Parts: sequence; structure tokens; C-alpha cells
Amino acid sequence: MQTQERGTLFVFSGPSGVGKGTLNAKLFEEFGEQMAFSVSATTRAPREGEIDGKHYFFISKQEFESRIANNDFLEYAQFAGNCYGTPKSYVMSLLDQGKNVLLEIEVQGAMQVMERMPDCVSIFVLPPSFEELERRLRGRGTETEEKVLKRLETARGELEYAGRYKYRIVNGGDLEAAYQELRSIYLKETNRA
Ligand code: ADP
Ligand code: 5GP
Repeated sequence: MQTQERGTLFVFSGPSGVGKGTLNAKLFEEFGEQMAFSVSATTRAPREGEIDGKHYFFISKQEFESRIANNDFLEYAQFAGNCYGTPKSYVMSLLDQGKNVLLEIEVQGAMQVMERMPDCVSIFVLPPSFEELERRLRGRGTETEEKVLKRLETARGELEYAGRYKYRIVNGGDLEAAYQELRSIYLKETNRA
């Protein structure tokens, strides 16, 4: 009997608004049948159009704390005043099924995953400039002005972690060029190059 090869864990970070979701959606479009996105739990309120169980599991602070106590998270962190965590058993079972799993998480959580799962493939997405990051975040129109400012302040600290990731991709003016870099990393790390 042939044993199922374990999937690869990808850890994907970058400041809010840099284009992580856009790039990952493209990767999923092309390789979706081999991949799975982990659905995180968060205490943040849903944005318009976000679906519980698809984009996040939207839970209360109390529920989040009880999951920490149960050791349910592979990692968890606070970001811009809310808590976010990756469900451990879900991710492990997807990897066991041979899926390449993608975690789109902020830097504190990524550091925990890199330590616990050293074989993971870590990728940091950089903006071409801070001004462009600000433009994209505002252009997306999902955050209030106060929240935009908080996310930009957090972004400055996050950019200092870029050097700790295995790969860095600049998502500049040319989205397709950034996607091609991501695509070749994916192919290389899943032995399909
Ligand atoms: P993140 O998931 O990192 O928070 P998003 O994927 O939501 O970021 O992207 C933020 C905004 O920037 C979106 O409106 C998206 O369409 C836009 N965007 C993404 N990549 C580029 C790019 N290379 N050039 C210009 N705009 C981009
Ligand atoms: P947003 O509120 O924009 O959906 O996410 C804010 C930040 O939290 C983003 O950088 C996103 O990647 C990160 N994030 C989402 N889920 C998790 C998670 O499970 N753990 C950690 N550590 N960060 C997460």
C-alpha cells in the first residue's frame, strides 16, 4: 500500500493591505485541489461579506480563552486589539491528508509556528513603499480611519521581521510578477518545479 505523502505547511505574512489575500487567491485558483487554507478563529467582528466558518470562525473573547486553555491552537496572537489563532487539529489533519496548507498569519504567530514546525515554508510579502501600503489599505475601504492608522503603526514593527522568513516577495506595481515569484516558490517547495 502506498503511504500518503504529508503536505507542506506554508506560513504567509506581511503587513495588512500588502496584498496577501490577493496573491493567495491566485495561488488557490491555480493549485486549489492540492491546497487548503486554514480557517482561523478570531475575536474581531466580521467585515461585510465575511462568512463564519469560511473566512474566520468569529468567536467571543471568553471562547478564545477557553480554547487557549484547552491547547487547541497551533499558535495565537493579538493584532490591532483582537485575538487570532490557528486551530491545531484541523491543520494537522489536512497535512496528514497530503494537502499543502496555507496559514496567513501575523508575525508573532508565524514565529511560534516556525519554532514548532521548523519544516514549514515561510514567506513574507513586502510593499514597494510605506506610502503605497497606506494607499492600498485605504483603497480597500474595509477599515475605519482609526483602524487604518492602527494597522499602519503595526505594519512598521512587522516589516522588521521580514528577514526571519525563508522567502521575501515584493508586491510592487506588477501583481502578476509577484504572483510568478510566489508560484515558483510553491512549485519548488512542493517538489513540482
Ligand atoms: P492583505 O490580504 O495583505 O491585507 P489585500 O490582498 O486585501 O491585502 O490587498 C489590499 C488591497 O491592495 C486590495 O484592494 C488589493 O486589490 C490591492 N492590491 C493587491 N496587490 C496589489 C498590487 N500589486 N498593486 C496594486 N494594488 C494591489
Ligand atoms: P484581518 O483582521 O485583516 O483579517 O487580519 C489581521 C492580521 O491577523 C493579518 O496579518 C492576518 O494575517 C492575521 N491573522 C489571521 N489569522 C491569524 C491567526 O490565526 N493567527 C495569527 N497569529 N494571525 C492571524
